[in-house]
Amino acid sequence: MLSVRDLTAGYGAVTALDGVSFDAAEGEITAVLGANGAGKSTLLRTISGLVRPSRGSVTLAGLDLGTVPVEGMAAVGLAHVPEGRGVITELTVEENLRLGALGRGGRVGAADLERAYSLFPILAQRYRASAHVLSGGERQMLVIARALLARPRVLLLDEPSLGLAPRIVVQIFELVQTLVRADGLTVVLVEQNARSALSIANRGVVLNLGRVVVSDEAAALAGNERLRHAYLGF
Ligand code: ATP
Repeated sequence: MLSVRDLTAGYGAVTALDGVSFDAAEGEITAVLGANGAGKSTLLRTISGLVRPSRGSVTLAGLDLGTVPVEGMAAVGLAHVPEGRGVITELTVEENLRLGALGRGGRVGAADLERAYSLFPILAQRYRASAHVLSGGERQMLVIARALLARPRVLLLDEPSLGLAPRIVVQIFELVQTLVRADGLTVVLVEQNARSALSIANRGVVLNLGRVVVSDEAAALAGNERLRHAYLGF
């Protein structure tokens, strides 16, 4: 579904990604792992067009994303949930959700909202509340639900577990699995929490200093003790 080839990008003199290639298969979760500064966030930013690569390409179902402006990504089926839970705290939960449909024309049907609320019952209970009152885990659910309103085929998730209690991390990861199973969504999941990410992923790509160290099936990565100690921190 998503093919990344020889992707190279950076910030001024800093090369953050250096010749990265991998495929994310349809209906699968691909975990992108590696230490701080490995280039994981830059990889997602480059896939979604926020950072323009100096070399290489990304295709989504055969479409070259290099030809798509950043504001056109939602319309071609790509959604990016950046690190940091960008909810708009001045708006209600439902107003935040409705923003998710902007990229595909702005119309939100009752069915879209019903589906979001059935996947995320906690948001249904608080739909008229200010997003300001939500906990970290609820905010993470809201930004994922908002991204889904654009009806993406590929969802890029940057560190959804950051700063959340282990119990909430389990809930979020189970939700991601549900989405993949129910919709055949393709997910690229960036995580520092490699153990949890590999427990739900089909495949994993390990980055170090902007390069792919290894990419393999999730179970093979989790079972490789040397790799775990050197790059995955568990
Ligand atoms: P983290 O988990 O800390 O976000 P990461 O694996 O996502 O790490 P990136 O944030 O992609 O890594 O950073 C890769 C490299 O690019 C690092 O050397 C970082 O310092 C640099 N970098 C990231 N963002 C910027 C920026 N906006 N300007 C300059 N350099 C940056």
